[in-house]
Amino acid sequence: MYAVAIDGPAGAGKSTISRAVAQKIGFLYVDTGALYRAVAYDMLENRIDPSDIHAVCERLAHITVRLGYENGDQQIYLNGKNITEKIRTPQISAAASTVSSIGEVRQFLFSLQQDIARENHIIMDGRDIGTVVLPNAQVKIYLTADVEERARRRFVELQQKGIHTDFEEVLADVKRRDENDMNRSIAPLRQAPDAVLVNTSHLNFDQSVRAVLAVIEERIGRE
Ligand code: C5P
Repeated sequence: MYAVAIDGPAGAGKSTISRAVAQKIGFLYVDTGALYRAVAYDMLENRIDPSDIHAVCERLAHITVRLGYENGDQQIYLNGKNITEKIRTPQISAAASTVSSIGEVRQFLFSLQQDIARENHIIMDGRDIGTVVLPNAQVKIYLTADVEERARRRFVELQQKGIHTDFEEVLADVKRRDENDMNRSIAPLRQAPDAVLVNTSHLNFDQSVRAVLAVIEERIGRE
């Protein structure tokens, strides 16, 4: 099986670019951020403070998270209920970032990610895919962009979804998540030594897709 690992900070365009690339080359796209969001959603629904490690760990024993696909689109199920449309709010982004620094949460989601990769050609995006989840992926890409540009893209995306917030708030949220993701002690966000850096600050969407495809073709095309 082929695995393409795409890591990078929030708002770098990982999910939209990965989805488009996966469609072009016929691989399954796996958005691992949705898994952390599902755990965060459950905690908020149950009024559990995402930073209360003890309470979060206790709650984990009562939840199941599963991925499925509908017309090629990833769906996420929490205790059997499809919550795909409910996990994109700024509150859940912040809570996902908080619960993702808990080792037990990462462990809880680990085998699910590895199982999918064992059975499918995949493009998987996240923060620790090339470093921890799939260290043997044939292709690793670190996709990033300047922080203001990432915040601007996130802002536009939220607006399109009808979620109204102001730019400064989105920028602060992106910076906070960078800080959390890069400085946590377990599986921090960093570029794997064998990952190719793709900076999309000055690339439009099509150019970004082409840049990623070029790396994949270079690595897999030669095998
Ligand atoms: O990618 P997305 O913004 O949906 O991810 C939500 C949060 O989940 C991130 O801020 C990050 O803290 C966490 N995450 C992670 N490891 C991954 C994917 C996401 O820690 N592989």
